[in-house]
Amino acid sequence: MDFHLTDEQLDIQQMVRKFARNEIAPIAAEIDENSRFPVETFEKMGELGLLGLLIPEQYGGVGQSVLTFCIAMEEVAYACASTSLSYLAHSVLCAHNLLCNGSDEQKKRYLPDLASGKKLGAIAMTEPDVGSDVLAIETFAERRGDEYIVNGSKTFITNAPVADTFLVYVRTDRALGPKGLSQLIVERGFPGFSIGEAFHKMGMRGSPTAPIFFQDCRVPVENLVRGENKALSIILGGLDVERTVGGSMAVGAARAAFDRAVAYSKERRQFGQPIALFEMILEKLANMSMDIEAAQLLTYKACALCDEGVRCSAEASHAKLFASEASVRACSEAIQILGGYGYMREYEVERMLRDARMGTIGGGTSEIQRLIIAREVLKR
Ligand SMILES: Cc1cc2nc3c(=O)[nH]c(=O)nc-3n(C[C@H](O)[C@H](O)[C@H](O)COP(=O)(O)OP(=O)(O)OC[C@H]3O[C@@H](n4cnc5c(N)ncnc54)[C@H](O)[C@@H]3O)c2cc1C
Repeated sequence: MDFHLTDEQLDIQQMVRKFARNEIAPIAAEIDENSRFPVETFEKMGELGLLGLLIPEQYGGVGQSVLTFCIAMEEVAYACASTSLSYLAHSVLCAHNLLCNGSDEQKKRYLPDLASGKKLGAIAMTEPDVGSDVLAIETFAERRGDEYIVNGSKTFITNAPVADTFLVYVRTDRALGPKGLSQLIVERGFPGFSIGEAFHKMGMRGSPTAPIFFQDCRVPVENLVRGENKALSIILGGLDVERTVGGSMAVGAARAAFDRAVAYSKERRQFGQPIALFEMILEKLANMSMDIEAAQLLTYKACALCDEGVRCSAEASHAKLFASEASVRACSEAIQILGGYGYMREYEVERMLRDARMGTIGGGTSEIQRLIIAREVLKR
């Protein structure tokens, strides 16, 4: 066991930290206020190689590990949570998923543009009537000759308004239950595919979320990933990495709230002394610090297992569940420490709490993470 990052990881961390603090943090409040997707940020992230961090060089990326990706993700989330959510959907849920499951031809066709940021990616699993019970997907794809004809709809799709490449889970066999699911690559512009109006959200407002619709949408058979009725293992395997990276997003956001709280508690004076000297404030800071340390360690452990290629449902759920709930606690306590100022928009911690709240819902709710962990515990 080695708790030290490599020199290369430290270099990447420094590079992303500098970029995120100079280019992402200064516009975080503005993109939240205007519900604006920061296209310019993603262009720069593409130039820096951040969008292809997980993609091997042969497909136009940099070929780094899940751990290194999470180190970068933490820095992006520290600067702006909604930018990190769109980054996760693009780089992990779409590009990395395709890397793990696509054919060589599909990877050659789609990954270079995703790695450079020329095209943005999304994943479409959730439906209006299918959320936590994800294996009950109803959107149906029927094979006709060289095409699938897809009918149905998906909702809450991160990046849908700006994405070009969608990985879409569909049902291809109604009799097979969870084993009757397949994954298709759908391009913006395919006939019969449309994108709805973006939702107005509580937080994560710089990351656009919208429903998508399929009305006799025609998808070429060569865009079927892995084979018909083969999506169950894609869904289960992909969620380990998604949840692990979700953990690092939450750690980055929690660190940002914590640093604001520490700085403020040293500056703010009441009763003739800095509030940092009051024991009840110190207790909050100690709890936040312990939460962040634990969340980061759980996340790094899940990263290590993902990088070994080992299935790690329980560890990924530990990371995602603990880190997302720790992040909500940290943002809420940061508001408390900042007092009335914490409740005001200019001080940013209120935005951080609105953003953090999403972490306990997206990628599987906290209740579902607890179910997964409990089932694994009983199984082991
Ligand atoms: C901002 C945002 C972005 C998102 N991005 C994407 C995306 O890019 N792609 C995508 O496919 N989806 C996306 N989602 C959808 C997200 O994954 C779902 O919202 C989530 O899985 C929960 O599904 P649901 O909202 O339908 O809630 P439901 O499943 O209806 O759950 C409602 C409540 O019931 C609880 N519950 C459900 N089942 C059980 C059970 N068995 N035991 C105990 N409690 C239970 C839940 O925990 C929750 O509290 C996004 C969601 C949000 C908010």
